[in-house]
Parts: sequence; structure tokens; C-alpha cells
Amino acid sequence: ALSPTCTVTIPKGDEDLHSVISRWSDLGVKLPFAVVVPSTEEDIMAVVNFASQNSLHVVPGGGGHGNFVPIDDKTIYLDMKKFNSVTVNKEESSVAIGGGAVVGDVLRACVAEGCYALTGNSDAVGIAGYFLGGGNSFVTGVHGLAIDHVLSIRVVTASGSAITLTPSSTGAEASLFAALRGAGHGLTTILSLTLRTFPIASLALPSNKIWNRKLILPGSAIALAASLYTSLIPPPPPFLPVLIFGRAPPGTPAAGAPVIIISANYYGPAASAELAAAPLLTAEAEAAAIVAETTLLDFADMNKSSAPMSSHGGFKETYNTMLHAVTPASIVSAFSQYVAFGDANPDAKARSYAVLGSWSTGAQLANAALPGNKTYFAHRDRGVFFQMTPWYTDVVTRPATEEFARGVVRTLREADEEKGFKGVIFANNMIFGQEMGEVYTKEGLEEVRAVKREWDPKGVFWSP
Ligand SMILES: Cc1cc2nc3c(=O)[nH]c(=O)nc-3n(C[C@H](O)[C@H](O)[C@H](O)COP(=O)(O)OP(=O)(O)OC[C@H]3O[C@@H](n4cnc5c(N)ncnc54)[C@H](O)[C@@H]3O)c2cc1C
Repeated sequence: ALSPTCTVTIPKGDEDLHSVISRWSDLGVKLPFAVVVPSTEEDIMAVVNFASQNSLHVVPGGGGHGNFVPIDDKTIYLDMKKFNSVTVNKEESSVAIGGGAVVGDVLRACVAEGCYALTGNSDAVGIAGYFLGGGNSFVTGVHGLAIDHVLSIRVVTASGSAITLTPSSTGAEASLFAALRGAGHGLTTILSLTLRTFPIASLALPSNKIWNRKLILPGSAIALAASLYTSLIPPPPPFLPVLIFGRAPPGTPAAGAPVIIISANYYGPAASAELAAAPLLTAEAEAAAIVAETTLLDFADMNKSSAPMSSHGGFKETYNTMLHAVTPASIVSAFSQYVAFGDANPDAKARSYAVLGSWSTGAQLANAALPGNKTYFAHRDRGVFFQMTPWYTDVVTRPATEEFARGVVRTLREADEEKGFKGVIFANNMIFGQEMGEVYTKEGLEEVRAVKREWDPKGVFWSP
């Protein structure tokens, strides 16, 4: 039986989708069989058993940002929002995180205790969903991936039992623990996970704040923007430079005009930041920019600027690639494709955006070599990430979107392709109907599929 505070909503066939379920992207989202908001472990076990007996799929939902998950009348959507507790343990340098907590919950709870865990760049993203695909954070360059710093995971399995997995787990439980670290979407329901924390003071930040340099440039300055950005790569470990293609928002003087934003955070001392970001501080850069500013950000507010990209609703897709290198020419070409696409598709013009990020790969590679650190993050040697996010309101735009976004990604891959590097994508940002060979190695995929057969032979959990 379900607990008295567990709610179950069975939508009627004509019900408005958004009154039943809220997701970052509506692509592939139909009315589910039911939405269940569990309060206890036992509620989740009961839902899993019910789904298993009735040939339904369980999709646990956290922040709702996975745009690769189909939801339909065979889905029980397990909204984990009540499992949002976050408990920092200062003595053990760890934080216990509920399976429904989001990045912002963890960031703020940790900052209140003077520490941080490896959280993502949007406060609204669910920690469990983020962790399951690897977890790329603001300090990937310093510490590697979130999956490298997990101390325990408590899950409900497809057979309806609750177990705790740790680095000391053995046999089939060890295989499940490893698979959850990078290839974990659709294997279990995560009740909670415990991540390692680090003192903010260890970063030696200026006044415990994050040094940021931001340039907003007009579209006409794309060649300069591209050369400035590529001059920052590869960044030193504490440096996280990002380049964004966007449109000036409504209410600004050039609303709708294409702009390029370069935003560079440095998770270390200000003097080192100024060295790493020197190309962004020149008179030439300043003269070309509409906005050029250097600020210190409060640690807890590090994700404030990504809030507009995190809002729910509309159709969005995350065409992405992880690269070894990127050239200025490919950025310039991608930008002109981006501008043309928006001009030709009014419903996709205002909000479609692209992000190019880069980080030092040293820590994530070193972690992979640690004994016993078995994970399924296949592309640790790639330190450049590009994502084109078409964001549109009319589903009719989808074919044009797909052709455009795949073309832009191909353009960014040119330098890697010339060197014979395979095109790969980031597990957390899979697209709808993802070709899994682009996400994992062949061997890794076979191992994860064996784990799936062992732990969820009936496919109770939808998995990619
Ligand atoms: C704006 C934005 C910013 C992002 N930033 C980053 C970033 O900085 N770093 C990064 O690595 N990724 C990032 N991502 C990708 C993000 O981590 C993944 O999309 C992640 O899967 C989203 O998790 P969610 O809980 O928000 O989404 P959901 O759609 O709720 O869940 C996504 C997947 O995780 C599963 N899941 C969620 N909760 C649980 C649970 N408790 N137990 C079992 N399975 C669960 C779902 O079933 C689904 O398969 C970002 C995505 C967006 C849209």
C-alpha cells in the first residue's frame, strides 16, 4: 500500500499536458499513464512492482531536464520532488543528496557549510540525473567528474528492493555501481547518493568569490570572438571559459540581434585568473564589445546567468559533441548557420542558443587511472564541448531544426575529423532517439547492457 502522503494522478485523455507534467522540453512527452509523487522508499517499491506486473515503464523524474526520455501512456512518471533532502557532513567531507534534489539545493546547502560538491551549471538540473551521465561541473578541470567522487548510492531496483552500493560492493552490485557512474539512466531509481565535498577555501578565491570576465559582442565581431576564445584553449585546471551564440533579449536596444557572449570563470586566485584570461582583457577586446566587465560572483550564485536556459516548456534538443580541438573558422561558420537558421524559422529565432565550453582534462584522466575507479564515461580525453540547442514552439519546425543542428555539429567537428577522431556525444545531453554507439565504447555498451539484463530483465525502467 502507498503511504498517505504519496499522490497518484491518472490523467484523463483530454487533459492539458502541462497541468500534469512539467519538463524542460516537450519533445516526446505525451500524457503518462500516471504521475506518482512518492514519500517513502516503500512507495517507490510498490510503484516499481505495480509497473512490473502491468507492463508499464517507470521514469524517475528529478529536474526534468533530460530531453531524451520518451513519456507516454505506458509510463509511470515517478516525480522524486519530495526526496530533496541535502545533508552536509563536515567531519566526513561529504554530502548526502536525495534522489529528487536539484543542483541549487546542493550548492546552497554546501556553501552554507563553507564547502562545495561537484554540481552542474544549472540550479534546476536534478543531481541524480546529472550524476548518472557523468556529471560535468564547474571544477571538472580541478577534480574530474562527479562520478569520480561518489561514496555511496542507495537505489530501488527493478525487482522492488532497496540496496546501498559503495566502492566496496562486490559481484553484481559492483557492476551496477560502476554502470550508475556514467551510464546509469534507466537502471534503477536513486533514493540518495553521497558525494565528496571540498572546502571553498582550498580554491584560494578572492574573498571566497568567483572571478568572472564577461564580454558581449555583436554578431559582426564573430571572427574576433572565435579567435579570442580559441586562444584560451586548453585552459588551466581552474579556468572555465564558455562561448555562447544567442540573440539580444526583448527589451534591450537591439532585441533579436545575434550576439556572442564569452564568459570565463576562474576557480582560483585573481592574479592567476588575469593571466589565464589575458586575451579577454585587451583594449581590442574591450573596444569590440557591447559589454565588457570583470566581476566577482558569490559562490552560491554561480549559476544565476544560466537560469534563462533552464526554464521548462517549448521544444528543445541538445545536439552536441565532445572534441579534442576546435578552430576559429569552424566557430565562424557555425555562427553564420545559427543566424541564418533563426532568420528562417521565426519560432526558433529568439531562444535557440549554442554553448561552447572547454576544460582541462588532466584531473578526469588521472581519476580514470585510479585503482577501483570503474566508470562509464568514455570520452575523458576530450576537453571541448559544443552544444547547439534549438528551442522552438512549433513542432513543424523539427525537421529543419534537425538538419540545421546536425550540420552545425558537423562543422565544429571538422578539425577532429581531419585527425580521424570519432564523433562522440556527452551522455547527459543525449538527444531523443540517441545512437548509443556515439555515447559509449562498444565494449562499455556491451557491459552496461549486461548489467541492464541482470538488474532489469523486464525493462521496468525506461532506458536509452
Ligand atoms: C540547462 C541545462 C544545463 C545543464 N548543465 C549540465 C552540467 O553543467 N553538467 C552536466 O553534466 N549536465 C548538465 N546538463 C544535463 C543534465 O545533467 C541531464 O539532462 C540530466 O539527466 C538532467 O537531470 P534532471 O533530473 O534534471 O532531468 P530528468 O529528465 O528528470 O531526468 C533525466 C534522466 O535521469 C533520470 N533520473 C532523474 N532522477 C532520477 C532518480 N532519482 N533515479 C533514477 N533516475 C533518475 C530520469 O529517469 C531520466 O532518465 C544540463 C542540462 C540542461 C538542460
